[in-house]
Amino acid sequence: MKPPESFGTPDHPFRIAIVGSGPSGFYAAMALLKENDLHLRVDIFDRLPTPFGLVRGGVAPDHQKIKSVAKIFEKTAGDSRLRFFGNVALGRDVQVADLESCYHQIIYAIGNESDRPLGIPGEHLEGCLPAGRFVGWYNAHPDFSDLEVDLGCDRAVVVGNGNVAVDVARILAKSADEVRDSDIADYALDALAASKIREIVVLGRRGPVQAAFSPGEIRELLDLPGGRLTIAPEELALDPESLADLEKAPKKSSARSNFELLEIASKNTCSEDRRRILLRFLTSPVEVIGNAEGRMTAVRIEKNRLHRGEDGVLRPRGTGETEIIEAGLLLSSVGYRGTRTPGVPFDEKRGVIPNIDGRVVSEKDGTVLTGHYVVGWAMSGPRGLIGIHRGLSAGVVDLALEDLRAGRHCRPGLTACDISGLLEQRGVKVVSFEAWKKIDAAEIERGERRGAPRVKFSKIEDMLEVI
Ligand SMILES: Cc1cc2nc3c(=O)[nH]c(=O)nc-3n(C[C@H](O)[C@H](O)[C@H](O)COP(=O)(O)OP(=O)(O)OC[C@H]3O[C@@H](n4cnc5c(N)ncnc54)[C@H](O)[C@@H]3O)c2cc1C
Repeated sequence: MKPPESFGTPDHPFRIAIVGSGPSGFYAAMALLKENDLHLRVDIFDRLPTPFGLVRGGVAPDHQKIKSVAKIFEKTAGDSRLRFFGNVALGRDVQVADLESCYHQIIYAIGNESDRPLGIPGEHLEGCLPAGRFVGWYNAHPDFSDLEVDLGCDRAVVVGNGNVAVDVARILAKSADEVRDSDIADYALDALAASKIREIVVLGRRGPVQAAFSPGEIRELLDLPGGRLTIAPEELALDPESLADLEKAPKKSSARSNFELLEIASKNTCSEDRRRILLRFLTSPVEVIGNAEGRMTAVRIEKNRLHRGEDGVLRPRGTGETEIIEAGLLLSSVGYRGTRTPGVPFDEKRGVIPNIDGRVVSEKDGTVLTGHYVVGWAMSGPRGLIGIHRGLSAGVVDLALEDLRAGRHCRPGLTACDISGLLEQRGVKVVSFEAWKKIDAAEIERGERRGAPRVKFSKIEDMLEVI
């Protein structure tokens, strides 16, 4: 056997595993494959048979333009130095030790796959759901396709003021005909067609000046025909601190643009035949109320007042004044967090893989684990849109390559270390990129019948059957 120094040659290229095929994983692959002076091979693993992470399973179905980023990733997947191993989960089908024996470096790009809880009584009641599950449901994510979503009530409440909250409110407010030409799951389209929801109340714990949604998302709600975005004018009466912040904010800041758009919404009257979105600020849910059958019937909310902390940030504090909103559905969109993967360090408090600038560190003593890196939401938590990962993943790859060149990597053997053999021995039904393209083509064909870009398969068995 040749000595390990002979790695990095055409015969024995450096081998890098990326776990997770969302934007951060693909952008990391792109950055690695740009290094023309290094002989390397990249294998991307995903626990699903389908690539692209939240681009497929998170981004709203009526935001097809954003999903077109997948075309860029497809180009990367076409590079002969890259292989895709779909339907292979780290912690289930392969273990970290397997990857360490086959690869010089491992880049975790596994995202943040669980929702933060509200932490209030009654949250377990039927009808009360984390928004992430609802999003997965309408996007045909196999984990959530069996979810029972009942849209048979008059009113839904969405908790949160980020873009995900706006996405779910918009989807709930649209008619089936308005999303038929999107790639929404077919069963979700049926549920929207039968939906009895008339009003969607969106609760923000802070005021309109502090809302985290982006002006583009609010403008989209304003553009919905029928004046569906509404807000009571008194909600825009600002406390002196918020007013001061707004006046200080730059002209083109999100805070100013949002406020201007909300002022327009405050003049809207929603037409009778439309589902209305009502924005409420300075309110937090404190209890979900249910009936004897364990179904939610209402939510108790508390009015908040803002207080400026020592760090200068305005934070909400309950006033004790409460109100009950009758509702049959509550979607909480208060953030995502990662989940622990066997063998991979995890910071329980922050919900991310602990790291220093993307170099994974030991959970016990904080020392750097040679050859292990993390990118994307798994690195930093649920912050940032797709585009931001391009630069961030490239930055981590720079560090990884610096380490590789300096000989800091896992030390796989030169022979018998191709992961394919191991997966075959274990009977894992690996989905290659070519096989995914067959699923892709079948979905597009199903879409043609509906006038949609695709109709997704929502069950892994159905995807595997296609190939
Ligand atoms: C509901 C929602 C809507 C959004 N809409 C937009 C938008 O409109 N525009 C925009 O720019 N950004 C949007 N974002 C943000 C964007 O999706 C994220 O910035 C981005 O997807 C994060 O990329 P990531 O690669 O870190 O994680 P992800 O995209 O979550 O990818 C993680 C991947 O890892 C895989 N994985 C997880 N665990 C394992 C394992 N154990 N083994 C193997 N594979 C595993 C998953 O299957 C997944 O494919 C949205 C986010 C959400 C939640």
